[in-house]
Amino acid sequence: MNRLQIQEQPITEQLPLLKSTRSKLVTWLADNVRLMVQISFALLVVWIGIEFHFFIEYLESGGVTGDAYRPPGVEGFLPISSLMSLYYWLLTGNIHAVHPAGMFILLGVIMISLVFGKSFCSWLCPVGFLSEVLGDLGDKIFGRRLRLPRWLDYPLRSIKYLLLGFFVYSIFFLMTAASLEAFLYSLYNIVADIKMYYFFADISRFSLIVIGVLFLLSIVIRNFWCRYLCPYGALLGVVSLLSLHKIKRNVASCTDCGLCAQVCPSSIKVDKVKTVISDECTACLSCVDVCPVKNTLELTLAGTKKVVSRKQVAVGVVGLFMLITGLAMLTGNWQNKVTIEEYLQYYKNYDSYGHPTSGDDIVELNKEVEQGPQEP
Ligand code: SF4
Ligand code: SF4
Repeated sequence: MNRLQIQEQPITEQLPLLKSTRSKLVTWLADNVRLMVQISFALLVVWIGIEFHFFIEYLESGGVTGDAYRPPGVEGFLPISSLMSLYYWLLTGNIHAVHPAGMFILLGVIMISLVFGKSFCSWLCPVGFLSEVLGDLGDKIFGRRLRLPRWLDYPLRSIKYLLLGFFVYSIFFLMTAASLEAFLYSLYNIVADIKMYYFFADISRFSLIVIGVLFLLSIVIRNFWCRYLCPYGALLGVVSLLSLHKIKRNVASCTDCGLCAQVCPSSIKVDKVKTVISDECTACLSCVDVCPVKNTLELTLAGTKKVVSRKQVAVGVVGLFMLITGLAMLTGNWQNKVTIEEYLQYYKNYDSYGHPTSGDDIVELNKEVEQGPQEP
């Protein structure tokens, strides 16, 4: 029925049609709530990127054009600095003033992982979203999902843990409160977001090739970056083992059709376990959606039979994220304390500031901090 026909009908006849269209839309939104959340966060990240671009323009022009506002959300892309701030906060009780928003974002993501597993990766992370889109494209091109054999999959998965291990060792085992403070207030850390901007804005040919290869690999092998290389995901994977919610299979009603294992983007053998306890489970709920037997595969609260719906996960994940970041805003810990004059000053030499590159450098930094400022 076309629009013209609808307009010609009396309103009483149009109502059922409008109601059914509305209910179809509501059902579609409920079925695709994860996609809606992913798109919303991706748009938020794009918005932050645009705002940060105008801030850089402001710095480049010496404060003439662009916008003096620096979006604090950009600190979500400084996970190492954020991890250091979190540790510094735990050691000293002080929230450092250079990238406080980054610390709260990391804290929010860790809290989400404790409640809903590694759901950040499949609900909020823009890189996870992009990986998913590329993986879907791969499914369409190849007509089936390609998986690496175990002998290759396991060693590759350990790469992200090696990277995480390096950062955890360097920060939690080598750094003291004093050296953390020295690093966090260093000029390198202050302009880290600006350096990151130029990494992408003036991207080198080598980096472009690496990113291009990762794109291609993500089409061929689903979630290549997330599964094998992302240390952030590795950290959340470890935390998620303590998660309050787990996917549970009712062995009695399960027909062993294997559909859940087939759709799982993390290649988890859902059909072979009673409870999914895996650092790779991202609480995407694809397995739950595909299960043909009612009340057989569900996300439940650990130790209870309480089933959590997709809508509740959406509200929980987004709500927790907003709660922690909102707390930072309410307590005055969202905006950093670097003044615009300082930014204009530091920007002039942003390219010359370096950072520790090894454990030895950190030990050296510890010594320098202990000895105090040297005479010129
Ligand atoms: S499909 Fe199920 S088991 Fe696999 S990652 Fe998603 S929620 Fe976890
Ligand atoms: S999809 Fe459902 S019925 Fe099929 S194997 Fe998985 S849990 Fe069992």
